Amino acid sequence: MALIVQKYGGTSVGTVERIQHVAKKIIKQQQAGDDLVIVVSAMSGETNRLIALANELNDHPHGRELDVLLSTGEQVTIALLCMALQQQGAKANSYTGSQVRILTDNTHNKARIMEIDDNKIRSGLADGHIVVVAGFQGCDEHGNITTLGRGGSDTTAVALAAALKADECQIYTDVDGVYTTDPRVVPEARRLDQITYEEMLEMASLGTKVLQIRSVEFARNYNVPLRVLSSFKEGGGTLITAEDLTMEKAVISGIAFNRDEAKLTVLGVPDHPGIATQILGPIAKENIEVDMIIQNTGHDGSTDFTFTVHRSDYQIALKILQRTADTLNAREVIGDDKITKVSVVGVGMRSHAGIANTMFETLANENINICMISTSEIKISVVVDEKYLELAVRSLHSTFNLEQE
Ligand code: ADP
Ligand code: ASP
Ligand code: MG
Repeated sequence: MALIVQKYGGTSVGTVERIQHVAKKIIKQQQAGDDLVIVVSAMSGETNRLIALANELNDHPHGRELDVLLSTGEQVTIALLCMALQQQGAKANSYTGSQVRILTDNTHNKARIMEIDDNKIRSGLADGHIVVVAGFQGCDEHGNITTLGRGGSDTTAVALAAALKADECQIYTDVDGVYTTDPRVVPEARRLDQITYEEMLEMASLGTKVLQIRSVEFARNYNVPLRVLSSFKEGGGTLITAEDLTMEKAVISGIAFNRDEAKLTVLGVPDHPGIATQILGPIAKENIEVDMIIQNTGHDGSTDFTFTVHRSDYQIALKILQRTADTLNAREVIGDDKITKVSVVGVGMRSHAGIANTMFETLANENINICMISTSEIKISVVVDEKYLELAVRSLHSTFNLEQE
């Protein structure tokens, strides 16, 4: 008998019929002998609907109130799923994040899980119940409701699996696994049977939204076997583990991309020690995450400095940079919020030279201009104009022979 944590995403519980379908699947698995803890997301579109409501009433809703609002999406689904399970004859109980006591820090809207009390879950399982837990939420030490950031139900599921020492954490979604790239952009993309935590972490942090980054971090840190599968289609999905046991290891495991980037440049800043912190310090103070950074070689005592941020932070970052530029007597600030980042990822790159050049050649053949480049041991990222994103992803996917066999 195994203990399994399963998570069902928004599309999988998007309608009453789908909730009934999920309930049936869960009961079948329980009857096969497994203990099941189920994590659910809000019904598809619900979190966006709630955010839009908040924005109609307030330009900058307080994080605390936003969390009270957003957590209701998942609360609806846990209750509905339990009703469906009970209607089909199973014993089931629902719990919100604070009822379980998923303790988080107090960073509203992107809280981190600190501790999980597994008492209620364990006693529910011992009584033969299917335990249904709301994803994406917890509470801080004062009992304030918190949420874990978009896609956070993945992290709830993996954190529960780690706390319960579950045999596997299964993420049920609308695709039947992790693909070499988003199958919505490249229909020829290939499903991977296995991928390492390291590669998945890189893919997730470079924009592959099938799993929240934090969930992969948790899985790696606590060695939780993690599987991505379809709620609609039978199959083994993709297993994410420490070691890839497939015999023939591809050099490149996938192409990741992020549509939501923006870049800012300050031209003609004095080239002296401390310039980077003078430019980026005020940005960091506003809690804006900076991704790529490039400082040109200085000449005639001045230099140019470019960095990228999330597109939603563009306007505010631009304002801050303008102020800094004035105090530094810089020549000009320019920016572009119509850029995207495309990355080639693979641990096999460590032992293979020439991948970067193949990537640049492919983009050159398509006449795609590269605005920025950044590399690590297992990835190469380029920034390109957003109008070339699909073309870049498709041509790189084909160059590196990632299509289905
Ligand atoms: P859920 O609502 O179940 O959490 P998400 O929308 O968060 O689902 O994640 C699933 C989506 O991730 C898929 O529909 C797919 O378009 C997208 N996706 C992006 N990159 C990949 C990839 N490399 N492999 C699989 N899915 C991907
Ligand atoms: N409902 C939340 C979101 O849409 C959390 C999740 O689905 O994982 O981001
Ligand atoms: Mg998701």
